[in-house]
Amino acid sequence: MSNTTFEQIGKVLRDYRSFAILGHVRPDGDALGSQLALALSLEQLGKDVRVWNEDGMLEKYSFLPRADLLTKPPANAEHVDVAVALDTAIQNRLGTTLAGIASAKIWINIDHHPSNPGYGDLVIVDPSAPATGEIIFKLIKSQGLPLTHDIAENLYAAISTDTGSFQYPKTSSRTFEIAAELVRDGGLEVGQISQQLYESYPRRRLELLRELLRSMRFSECGRVASFSLSLRTAAQLAVLPEDNEGLIDHLRAVRGVIVAVFFEELADGKVRVSMRSKDEAVDVCAICQKFGGGGHTLAAGARVRGSLGEVEQKVLEEIHDVLNKRES
Ligand code: AMP
Ligand code: MN
Ligand code: MN
Repeated sequence: MSNTTFEQIGKVLRDYRSFAILGHVRPDGDALGSQLALALSLEQLGKDVRVWNEDGMLEKYSFLPRADLLTKPPANAEHVDVAVALDTAIQNRLGTTLAGIASAKIWINIDHHPSNPGYGDLVIVDPSAPATGEIIFKLIKSQGLPLTHDIAENLYAAISTDTGSFQYPKTSSRTFEIAAELVRDGGLEVGQISQQLYESYPRRRLELLRELLRSMRFSECGRVASFSLSLRTAAQLAVLPEDNEGLIDHLRAVRGVIVAVFFEELADGKVRVSMRSKDEAVDVCAICQKFGGGGHTLAAGARVRGSLGEVEQKVLEEIHDVLNKRES
């Protein structure tokens, strides 16, 4: 797979008229912020833009500027000139937004997951980028596309969330320079954005954490930590899927833990597995790929068919094997 250039993508963005900007199912701040930022820049150019996500806009990100632009895909598929997939490692993670597109002359794929196979006609996959938002920033700057306050705030939210507030290893001096530029030129108020991102959770999120901690288990001499959420508990607490984003970080934050795993029972007979690593030598993307998933070396996921107990056992065994092979 070889990447195209920002120039080629910039030319398509200028030359065509109608666009659909898509992101992955169960979106995070990077997907939603990147989608809105690119859409708003195209809107400034006078383009006809749709912004779709299978889950629509999440309550917790509804403070993002122009969040109203982001909707679920329409029931009747539409023809667009250009479809753009952002932050989406495999095409089927676009979910129902794919069915919203009757035809597109060109597919663009912009992402930072190393497991992205490079689907689409024009592809930029940059695994060195800590967030897709950083790639969108570079695209906008290099092509002289509009960058307003609203666009800057969406990009800042994308980068802040996907770097774990500028903590994860792919955070570089360039990331801080980009953040500084967004804050300065976009006139952003960092304290206010951070409060909306990290200090505005619903109380039920903490109630969920309390239940998860009850199920917390350590194995492999404290190197693996996991917790699980059953459908029953989720229903009792009336939690939304978005409520658990980031809770896995409590496991990762424990000294000695190398791999953290969160198992979430889904209604379709599968279990969502979310995995984090603190050691580049333990590639959780590779582990998740064995179960049909993907992601990054240090943060990955998969959806695995089976009961909660079965999936927990299979996945923890695989992690056991990987840790032991590494030692032998
Ligand atoms: P999560 O644990 O859901 O926050 O996901 C961690 C990373 O793995 C994200 O970058 C996701 O895009 C990626 N990922 C999660 N689930 C899957 C999956 N089923 N297939 C491919 N990639 C995934
Ligand atoms: Mn994402
Ligand atoms: Mn991302």
